[in-house]
Amino acid sequence: MARDIIVQKYGGTSVADVSRIQNVARRVVKARRGGKDVVVVVSALGDTTDNLIELALTITNDPAERELDMLISTGEQVSCALLAMAIHELGEDAISFTGAQVGIITDNAFTRARIIDINARRIEEELRKKRIVIVAGFQGVNVNQDITTLGRGGSNLTAVALAKVLKARACEMNTDVEGVFTADPRIVKDARKIDKISYEEMFELASLGAQVLQPRSIEFAMKFAVPIHVRSSFSNRQGTIISREVRAMEDIVVSGVAMNKDEAKVTICDVPDKPGIAAKIFREIARQGINVDMIVQNVSRTGATDVSFTVLAGDLGKTIKVAKGISSKIGAGEITFDKDIAKVSIVGIGMKSHSGVAANMFEALADNGINIEMISTSEIKISAVVDKKRGQDAVRAIHAKFGLGKKRKS
Ligand code: ASP
Ligand code: MG
Repeated sequence: MARDIIVQKYGGTSVADVSRIQNVARRVVKARRGGKDVVVVVSALGDTTDNLIELALTITNDPAERELDMLISTGEQVSCALLAMAIHELGEDAISFTGAQVGIITDNAFTRARIIDINARRIEEELRKKRIVIVAGFQGVNVNQDITTLGRGGSNLTAVALAKVLKARACEMNTDVEGVFTADPRIVKDARKIDKISYEEMFELASLGAQVLQPRSIEFAMKFAVPIHVRSSFSNRQGTIISREVRAMEDIVVSGVAMNKDEAKVTICDVPDKPGIAAKIFREIARQGINVDMIVQNVSRTGATDVSFTVLAGDLGKTIKVAKGISSKIGAGEITFDKDIAKVSIVGIGMKSHSGVAANMFEALADNGINIEMISTSEIKISAVVDKKRGQDAVRAIHAKFGLGKKRKS
């Protein structure tokens, strides 16, 4: 008989204190008593990871990444042991493991490691003994047994990867919200929970600033078709199902609006309009490990043009330094920058087959007197950079323009 395995991931807010850990224990036990084999992945309690990083930074500005992983991986070890005890108190058998113990092998990229292999033998053995298996999220080991972590929010990736190797029926992401929303409900009053969304759209929304899920975990889920259910740890309601694109999804032009306030804009003025210049600029920036997001180059009328791009706000200082160096090398002009920007984006599979979507978005901004500073588009998303002060207004205006607060027909 095929076993019915479910992977349940609980995020930091779901295990923030003892009573919440006990709440998780009750949910897990309920699933177990409902006849499922349950594998639980937990994050660290509340803000533990942030606090550990802060602690390291009081000692050094530049902690060795191996040691940082040694430190921040401890948070998840605490929560998985406590959860096992809470489950024991409810009379069920449970056993907790670190990433290393269940054979989560990663590459050597400390603080952002990739999983290269999982040996699920131990987990399967324990499940056969009718135990609830609890795995510390966010961590693995490299081939030398050094502890690695998977990047912030990495417990999601642990959960999806385990769901894949165990051929679980579903991967539940239990969090502090009811699911994925059409916009941040703290900004948009009538934001609505999305019942179903495709991996592609969810990946874009997460990358563009919606904070429910780590983009890498969605990429992984998409690659291996692991169905995800994002739901609240504090209710029994159905949340959002993330799955393969289905035809009906195409009728929905825009699925959601996201905002990211963590970027800054840099402009290199009067860049000579010659082949190879953009390559030089962005090669040098990449060499410094700086990630560039949007890029806009104007047409040149006088043989020179302005090139603007966005980077993470935290990389701004470094970027300006590099840009100044490049500018003098290639004979360009001054460097200007703007920290006070917000990138507002819409995402929807239906954009592939509907026209006028961009026009509607820009009209919503125009009607509210919001100026657009940069635009970028892809097949299923449109992003506009606006003044940070108008970011929330922009999200509300766009949400209303596309009627996202109204109940869907389907
Ligand atoms: N505790 C880690 C973090 O805060 C991993 C996770 O929560 O998924 O990033
Ligand atoms: Mg966390």
